[in-house]
Amino acid sequence: MSFIPYGKQEISQVDIDSVIDVLKSDFLTQGPQVPTFENSLISACGAKYAFAVNSATSALHISCLALDLGPGDYLWTSPITFVATANCGLYCGASIDFVDIDPDTYNMCPAKLESKLKQAKAEGTLPKVVVVVHLCGQPCDMEKIYQLSKQYGFKIIEDASHAIGARYQNSITGDCKYSDITIFSFHPVKIVTTAEGGAALTNNDVLAKKLELLRSHGITRDESLMTEDSHGGWYYQQIALGYNYRMTEMQAALGVSQMTRLTDFVERRNQLAIRYDNELKHLPIELPKRLDSIFSSFHLYIIRLKLNEIKLSHKEVFSKLRRAGLGVNLHYIPVHLQPYYQKLGFKVGDFPEAEKYYGEAISIPIFHAMTDEQQSTSIETISQVLS
Ligand SMILES: *Cc1c(COP(=O)(O)O)cnc(C)c1O
Repeated sequence: MSFIPYGKQEISQVDIDSVIDVLKSDFLTQGPQVPTFENSLISACGAKYAFAVNSATSALHISCLALDLGPGDYLWTSPITFVATANCGLYCGASIDFVDIDPDTYNMCPAKLESKLKQAKAEGTLPKVVVVVHLCGQPCDMEKIYQLSKQYGFKIIEDASHAIGARYQNSITGDCKYSDITIFSFHPVKIVTTAEGGAALTNNDVLAKKLELLRSHGITRDESLMTEDSHGGWYYQQIALGYNYRMTEMQAALGVSQMTRLTDFVERRNQLAIRYDNELKHLPIELPKRLDSIFSSFHLYIIRLKLNEIKLSHKEVFSKLRRAGLGVNLHYIPVHLQPYYQKLGFKVGDFPEAEKYYGEAISIPIFHAMTDEQQSTSIETISQVLS
């Protein structure tokens, strides 16, 4: 019996050759591949700047720092995300809070955001940064969230780890039309991979300078930023406290090669999603809802069990699928239920829609290299377990 994972990278011979070429070249880091990769992100997404880093987590961290998030500030995000989306605020010494999800899209609910902002304004606890997460590759209602950011004065980071290649109205995810910074992840389960890797995109000149500095020790060779004249050709200055979050040349070369197939990747994922929509619709589950004016990149395909119509529990369905060879998963355990966050004061019951979702959601296999045959197996297995 073969095992079908929920997600998996697709590596072509051209990908492999381009990494090998780098290994034979003069630069393993800080060479020409990283800027080439950044340019491919810029041309695919339409932002003015892109900075490649060694993970999306690093991209989130330097994005929060670039937006001056620090002690005494609040970062708000969705409880249905990977822990990194919230942890980046804690790295900066800020406090975290969550806004519950919309039960139809599983993204942060704009109406709940608005009422929480109203209350926070009265209490003097407005957030400095709101990180929205485009879960599964379905963009959030960015126009509404952007309008709230103007009204209440917060900055927006889009965690688009799932959403490279997605579109919202006439905006391409990553163009930062409705945000200050957008970040991507290039972990192997994501749509485009560099093994480990991430990027931060922005249209803002000041934020771009900060992101660039923070990625590499806060060091600059740009004389216009220095406090005194250069001492000579060797000279650089450290003008901020940055990190070593650089991406290697091998990773960037893989990214450049992968980016040439972005459209293919996302189209195939959408094809697979349409077939799931059609062939699973008779089952006692909720399928992903497609909002008008949104094109999802379908990083994930999440089903929700209608438990009152099924004899098995959520956990039983999940184990039966796993035992039948489907590498199902669950994205995500609500962040506020993690022991680390419970110690910070969050409790069961704080975000009821997220918790209900957690009791019903299952991510089923979807990835570019998935064959029609594998999808047939996936559909048959799910149908058998649920009927
Ligand atoms: C994968 C992921 C991250 C973290 O990405 P890394 O590149 O592994 O650091 C952050 N947020 C979301 C929503 C993710 O899916």
